[in-house]
Amino acid sequence: MFVQSIDLNRLEFDDWAQSLDWIDHLPGGEKAARCALSMALLDGAAKLAGQPLHRFLGLEFGEQRYVTSFSIGIASPEVIHKKVLAAKDFPILKLKVGVPGDHECLAALREVAPSKLVRVDANEGWKTKEEALRMIEWLAADGNIQFVEQPMPAAQPDADWRWLKARSPLPIFADESFHGVEDVTRCADCFHGVNVKLVKTGGVHRALAALKAAQACGLKTMLGCMVETSVLISAGAHLATACDFLDLDGNLLITNDPFQGVSARCGILSFASAPEPYGLRVCPREPG
Ligand code: MG
Repeated sequence: MFVQSIDLNRLEFDDWAQSLDWIDHLPGGEKAARCALSMALLDGAAKLAGQPLHRFLGLEFGEQRYVTSFSIGIASPEVIHKKVLAAKDFPILKLKVGVPGDHECLAALREVAPSKLVRVDANEGWKTKEEALRMIEWLAADGNIQFVEQPMPAAQPDADWRWLKARSPLPIFADESFHGVEDVTRCADCFHGVNVKLVKTGGVHRALAALKAAQACGLKTMLGCMVETSVLISAGAHLATACDFLDLDGNLLITNDPFQGVSARCGILSFASAPEPYGLRVCPREPG
C-alpha cells in the first residue's frame, strides 16, 4: 500500500523537509521502503547544499572518535574461536547467545580474547524472567560484559520486563521490543537502553528522532543495523554523535557490498577514504 501511494512529483531535494513529512503521512508499514526514500532524499538534499549528511543534519562527525562493535554469530565453540581470532583488531565484540550452548560459546570467545569488552545479544532467547536473570547474573560475573540486548521475547508482559530491569546486574537493551519513537515511553519503563536501527524506524530522520526521544527519557542508545550494504551503514555513521554506542558492522559481514563509504578499520569509523565528499558520502565500489 505504501509503495503504490508514492508520488515521485511530491519528492524534491530542495524541499526535503516537506517531502519527508509527506512520506511520513502515507499509510502502510514498509519501514525499509520508507528508509530508502529518507536516505535518498537526504543524500540529495545534503549534496545540493554541498555538505556531508552529518553537517546537513546539524551533527558533527569526528575522525578517530567512534568505534563499532563486531558481531560474532551463533556457531559451534570451534567456529567462535576462529571468528574471534579473525576479529582480533576489533576492540569491542557483540556475541549472539540465547541457545543451549551459551556457556561454551562465551568460554570459546574468552580463550581468544580474555578481557575484551563484549556486548551480548540474546535475540529473545531466554523464555522466562527467571531464566533471563540467571543468565545475566552469569554474564555479569565475567566482568567485561557491557550490556545485554533483548534477553526475553518482545511479547513478554511489561511486568516481567520491569521485574528483570529492577534486578539485572547488567543494563538490558531493547531491540525487538523497540521500533521507534512510539515505543520510547514503554521502553523507558522496561529497559535501560534501546537499539535504534534505520530500517526499523523507517529512515534517517526517524532514527534521529527516536535517538533524541529515547535520550530525553533517560534511555541509553545504541545505533544498530541489519546485514546491510555501505549505503545504510554510512547513513548510520553520520548519526554517530547522536548515540551512546555503535553497532554498525552489517557491511563487514557481507562479501558483495556494491558500495563504498564509511570504513571501519580496527572498528574505528572513518570517512577519510570515502571518495564522495557530500551527502551520505557513498558511491559505487570500484571493481576489484
Ligand atoms: Mg539484536
